[in-house]
Amino acid sequence: MFPRHRQNSSSQAVAREQVPGLATSAAGVVYPERPLLKELLALQYRINRSRVEYAALCSLVGVKNTRTPKGNPALVYTVRDKVRGSGRLHKVSLSAQDDVPVDKTHYGVVMCTCEDWTFRSEFALAEANWSLILRSNGEPPGTKNPRHELFLCKHTLLAIAHLYRKTP
Ligand SMILES: [Zn+2]
Repeated sequence: MFPRHRQNSSSQAVAREQVPGLATSAAGVVYPERPLLKELLALQYRINRSRVEYAALCSLVGVKNTRTPKGNPALVYTVRDKVRGSGRLHKVSLSAQDDVPVDKTHYGVVMCTCEDWTFRSEFALAEANWSLILRSNGEPPGTKNPRHELFLCKHTLLAIAHLYRKTP
């Protein structure tokens, strides 16, 4: 079972206070620790085979090494979508909520600019602290993801695979 963390569990909050290097936002919010991003990738091979196959049809145009507004490590990937010949570009952001490299952080955050992300992935991943509600309207995904599974889109899948030098 893939662990899900919730922000308001008091027992977790106590445990976290004893761990050094916790990620804390400027507003003082303590983020729950997650598995590494490669575990989120590994999950896709079990629950999201279609996107794994589509990811192999996308190509990476570029990667920019940057920082979040709070100064934490971030990578911005530009991914070209070859599926159905659209050739559109999407931006994937992989970042950390602490000052640990993106491939090693236990506070990873994932985002993409595509519609699949907006309407299928974002809400469920934000619920599990892997993302933020930025592109969707914050409503549950309904029929596109009724069980709120931690689905990545093909672009984020490709980016995380690249981060760990794997092919999707
Ligand atoms: Zn996407």
